[in-house]
Amino acid sequence: MTHIIDGKAFAKGLRAEVGRKVAHIKEAHGVTPGLAVVLVGEDPASQVYVRNKGKQTVEAGMQSFEHKLPAETSQDELLALIDRLNEDASVHGILVQLPLPAQIDEEAVINAIRPDKDVDGFHLSNVGKLATGADGIVPCTPLGCLMMLKDYLGDLSGKRAIIVGRSNIVGKPMGLLLLRESCTVTMAHSRTVDLPGEIRRADIVVAAVGRPKMIQGDWVKPGAVVIDVGINRIEKEDGKTGLVGDVDYESASQVAAAITPVPGGVGPMTIACLLHNTLQQACRLHDIPVPE
Ligand code: NDP
Repeated sequence: MTHIIDGKAFAKGLRAEVGRKVAHIKEAHGVTPGLAVVLVGEDPASQVYVRNKGKQTVEAGMQSFEHKLPAETSQDELLALIDRLNEDASVHGILVQLPLPAQIDEEAVINAIRPDKDVDGFHLSNVGKLATGADGIVPCTPLGCLMMLKDYLGDLSGKRAIIVGRSNIVGKPMGLLLLRESCTVTMAHSRTVDLPGEIRRADIVVAAVGRPKMIQGDWVKPGAVVIDVGINRIEKEDGKTGLVGDVDYESASQVAAAITPVPGGVGPMTIACLLHNTLQQACRLHDIPVPE
């Protein structure tokens, strides 16, 4: 019987833990962590993400600052807002919802955020810290995957891990995190030769591709742990739309020791890790210890 890794329950526990720590630093140090989320334009999926982030931020006892700008906002206007948030002492985390409209250079905006407020962990300084093993901010989705892997497996040292997908926001940081845990890491991508063969050798499979049900159960080594980051909207037989991952859950769950479902696996962990990162940075910025 495969173990279903319940990301929804894990995320709920993490949010409660963050909430408890926030209450402690408010009481002991008078510090209320603040997260600013910037949304440019009216992309419906981004609006839902931003709404959920704001709601969960407030539920954790933090301050939520939402900045909704029109789609035609110029790069200079956005950079001016980032400057203000960088200077604002009540803001400990800044997140700019991606993607941004075409007239704005995403990299320029991400790198304008103060690295110690970059709770998404995308600033070049934090990317460099992760790559060199220094203490920086780790991107939320890979951090959530790592927490679930460590919770289920304990020590990851010596495990063979494969990451399918090499994006800057998921695949690459995931590979670096698992390398830091002393896994033997394979990074696979669209040019990988014999992907099923590569996956069959792995004890840990992280799928971050964006292709519905691409990874089949007979590609998975019996007893492997499968983390499915993919979120793909598909039309079901009854004509309704539904979400599926990058892994064919039905067949993979027959062979894997443990697997994350979609929805209810990695997805809920992302915002919980964002709150975790914001709390950490609030403590660092005020030079107070992160509560146990
Ligand atoms: P990207 O599109 O940026 O990257 C996809 C990666 O998959 C690329 O590296 C690409 O390779 C690789 N790839 C594409 N086709 C194949 C193939 N046939 N075989 C092997 N590799 C392939 O996606 P993201 O990393 O941004 O997202 C991946 C998935 O994760 C998406 O479904 C996204 O919605 C989801 N996601 C979920 C989050 C969550 O909170 N749960 C957060 C972020 C993303 P190449 O580089 O060679 O083109």
